[in-house]
Amino acid sequence: MKEFAPLPLQAECQPALRPTGPFGLVPRPLRVREVQRENARIRTFVLDGELPHAQPGQFVMAWLPGHEEAPFSLAYHRPVTLTVAAVGPFTRAMHRLEAGDRLWIRGPYGQPFRPEPVGRPLLVGGGYGVAPLAFLAETLLAVGQQPVAFVGGRTAEDVIGVKRLQALGVPVVVTTEDGSLGEAGLVTKPVARFLAEGRGEALYGVGPHGMLRALAELARAHRVPAQLSWEAYMGCAVGLCGMCEHEGVLLCVEGPVRRLAPGTP
Ligand SMILES: Cc1cc2nc3c(=O)[nH]c(=O)nc-3n(C[C@H](O)[C@H](O)[C@H](O)COP(=O)(O)OP(=O)(O)OC[C@H]3O[C@@H](n4cnc5c(N)ncnc54)[C@H](O)[C@@H]3O)c2cc1C
Repeated sequence: MKEFAPLPLQAECQPALRPTGPFGLVPRPLRVREVQRENARIRTFVLDGELPHAQPGQFVMAWLPGHEEAPFSLAYHRPVTLTVAAVGPFTRAMHRLEAGDRLWIRGPYGQPFRPEPVGRPLLVGGGYGVAPLAFLAETLLAVGQQPVAFVGGRTAEDVIGVKRLQALGVPVVVTTEDGSLGEAGLVTKPVARFLAEGRGEALYGVGPHGMLRALAELARAHRVPAQLSWEAYMGCAVGLCGMCEHEGVLLCVEGPVRRLAPGTP
């Protein structure tokens, strides 16, 4: 019987023979260039690779051999940058990565944020949801808009990403639930004030579902468009497995960003 040589490990396959780019289904290994500590629970990984056509709000699937895959929003696309909260087995394994280690990525996937035809959009992030806001702000600034960012956390320690937004010249309103930094209370409080004062014409939100529901309410009440990024457990990321179905919508392909038009009940 003919002997077959063992197949090379996926990582050792010829990169040129593997599908990559926007429709790449096979994860490709990228080196970790830098690990930035945001706080005790959250780290940002700058990887040695680019996804030049990716847009803010899109996500990639990350994989480590021996683990399942998980979706992460792109904090930036050039170089690929992910901000990751350690909440379970996979994300804890990611937190053990150091510069020079490999992380396998496929994507980008999903519907991105798209500029609304307004001058003063409000960008709202809670927890690690702040991750894609600087990427989004950069895109909106490039089309001449003047975004204002709102960053919320439970305590001062939970507030991340402010410097990246400020470095772009974006004004940032910080809130903490315990009042240890910025305004005391939920991040939706100053957002409501800005809308009531006519200082915001569209909402963009990334964060916990409670925050997104509150933003949807505010958008309805003030009749402004809202683009909100909804997270769900995801399996394939390309609309086949159905794991991320929510009210008849496959969030991996029809989301994660969903637009709420002004006047939607
Ligand atoms: C489109 C999208 C973008 C995301 N972007 C980021 C990101 O930028 N940074 C980041 O840190 N995380 C992000 N996540 C969440 C991330 O995928 C999960 O935290 C990760 O899968 C957890 O894997 P784990 O094995 O570490 O923990 P698990 O054991 O799988 O989960 C630990 C706990 O986290 C919660 N959880 C995990 N995943 C989800 C989910 N999809 N929806 C609701 N609750 C969940 C559950 O309460 C669970 O008990 C994103 C998810 C989606 C769908």
